[in-house]
Amino acid sequence: MSTIKSMLHEARVFPPLPEFVEQANLASMEAYQALCAEAKKDYPGFWSKLAQKHILWHKPFTSVLNDSDPPFYKWFEDGELNISYNCLDRHLTSQPDKLAIIFEADDGKVSRCTYRELYQRVCQFANGLKALNIRKGDRIIIYLPMRIEAIIAMQACARIGVIHSVVFAGFSAKSLHERIVDAGAVAVITADEQTRGGKHYPLKATVDEALSMNGTDSVKSVIVYQHTGMDTPWQAGRDIGWHELTQNKQTDCEPEWINAEHPLFTLYTSGSTGKPKGVQHSSAGYLLGVMVSMQWVFDYKPTDIFWCTADVGWITGHSYVTYGPLAMGATQVVFEGVPTYPDAGRFWKIIQDHKVTTFYTAPTAIRSLIKLGVDLPGQYDLSSLRLLGSVGEPINPEAWMWYYNVVGQSRCPIVDTWWQTETGCHMIAPVPGAVPLKPGSCTFPLPGISAAVIDEAGHEVEQGKGGFLVIKQPFPSQIRTLWRDPERFKKTYFPQDIGEGHFYLAGDSAHRDNDGYFWIMGRIDDVLNVSGHRLGTMEIESALVANPLVAEAAVVGKPHEIKGEVIVAFIVLKEKCPHGEQASKIANSLREWVVHEIGPIAKPEEIRFGDNLPKTRSGKIMRRLLRTLARGEEITQDTSTLENPAILDQLKQPIL
Ligand code: ATP
Ligand code: MG
Repeated sequence: MSTIKSMLHEARVFPPLPEFVEQANLASMEAYQALCAEAKKDYPGFWSKLAQKHILWHKPFTSVLNDSDPPFYKWFEDGELNISYNCLDRHLTSQPDKLAIIFEADDGKVSRCTYRELYQRVCQFANGLKALNIRKGDRIIIYLPMRIEAIIAMQACARIGVIHSVVFAGFSAKSLHERIVDAGAVAVITADEQTRGGKHYPLKATVDEALSMNGTDSVKSVIVYQHTGMDTPWQAGRDIGWHELTQNKQTDCEPEWINAEHPLFTLYTSGSTGKPKGVQHSSAGYLLGVMVSMQWVFDYKPTDIFWCTADVGWITGHSYVTYGPLAMGATQVVFEGVPTYPDAGRFWKIIQDHKVTTFYTAPTAIRSLIKLGVDLPGQYDLSSLRLLGSVGEPINPEAWMWYYNVVGQSRCPIVDTWWQTETGCHMIAPVPGAVPLKPGSCTFPLPGISAAVIDEAGHEVEQGKGGFLVIKQPFPSQIRTLWRDPERFKKTYFPQDIGEGHFYLAGDSAHRDNDGYFWIMGRIDDVLNVSGHRLGTMEIESALVANPLVAEAAVVGKPHEIKGEVIVAFIVLKEKCPHGEQASKIANSLREWVVHEIGPIAKPEEIRFGDNLPKTRSGKIMRRLLRTLARGEEITQDTSTLENPAILDQLKQPIL
């Protein structure tokens, strides 16, 4: 492969501020580098020490890494533990009355739950599952709103060794059906309805529809949490209320001691680049990853009020809502609603009301909140914040600057965390007390994570040139396989034609700058090829977003006889979507803007405006659909994870 060309230069640097460094878990570049060096010197020894320090083992492990059958790696394989024990029981003597969860409902109602209460509710629910004859190794589908009950359901599964597969509650009956069948689930846990942004959405009815389709005979029980209390059809013998299931159950439940490699869960990827993949995670290695990243990246302190806005339907919600914060004994905010209801100040109000110290969200939320109210955060007291985080997509430098200055008041480091469903926890992210930040860069790999940028032959590319982002050594929290599809697992992540199948291939392109910082350039699938130059999407999009008129941008390639490909840009303006003359005028000015910011090679041939971009339900831009639109073709691909299908019609129309 010819390498990918990097064009955008971002020169701003933000060294850690002294007030932050003073209290940081890792408080200098030397401390960070010492850990990296330790990992390099004795790789298994490094992870073994961490696993002993952070995890409570029922039976200690003697084997650290078994790499005899690559890429099917095993970590701590003869150890035994229980994940729920590690998240709940461990806090019962030291801090039973500490708040585990501050829950804010869609309608603003707040409820609180201590570690003891959470433990009791999880145990009762786990006992309820056992009463239904559900056992270790069984699979359960969780299709619940973003409420405490979702966390209880996941933790209860972990407590008895049941493998959960959470399906985001916005998914259709068809997608839900596919996941039920794929899992061979014995039960589905759902609610009557969910409420988001003041609207009601049926869940139980969707489950009924999914279960009316073929291949769902494995499902013996449907557990229904009565959330709004609406009337739902009931199938006697199969359906059981949450309350019924848990009443009179013991508030203790002996944890099932499981092997370190026992699957904790399976979860589907977002489907940005194709049909979602069913990622299977382990127990111990996964837990270790989320715990060390809480410590290193979120600089976790017992006094924190932690808030990750992700739904538990995504990996971010698994790692940094259900497992990471609880394992650390944190107090966290869980929010049922949406950032724009009742108005676009909702996030900022929650931070103010609950005195949030650590706030973790996605670039898509940041960009849409900029669009809806650049100065809104200023109307709230955000002085409790000490750390901000970003995940899900590259954060454009201008969005980063706004987040830093307006939300963080130039006081809070931003951890731009690069990772994936498959990696389980952060991989490349700043250790905030040590690493100077650059807007738009996820900076450096965490200690023990051997990230690199390579060409097809497996050699590291020169600085400044883009290539494949890989992780060279197996790491504890990595994907174990694709559920029931080991062949696709091998082909997707360890393909023979790149570096001879030795490295974990992330599917993203990246480059490193002169200081060694990592910059994610986009998806390999989305790389453009203009007049022989291979260009990533991120830099051109960031240049567009840096224009004061632009809220969001996505670029794709369209075949061209002479140039190979030309660039088509899809743009959402901060103001209303323009039409006719005005649209042409703005389009021209934006094309010139890109020439000025990056160079003539990146000039979009065509620009289209819309009120939004097609996004996955986890908020990521689906460029593969835009590529089809740019070619003027009909969309025939998997769109099961598309959040807003209506937007495709609007974006079909070229304006120039
Ligand atoms: P699919 O694999 O089905 O196409 P997906 O890759 O969007 O979906 P996820 O696992 O949810 O599914 O997302 C991981 C991807 O998100 C990464 O590979 C990367 O492209 C992007 N990403 C996540 N965090 C960051 C970040 N901080 N900077 C840049 N990109 C990021
Ligand atoms: Mg992916």
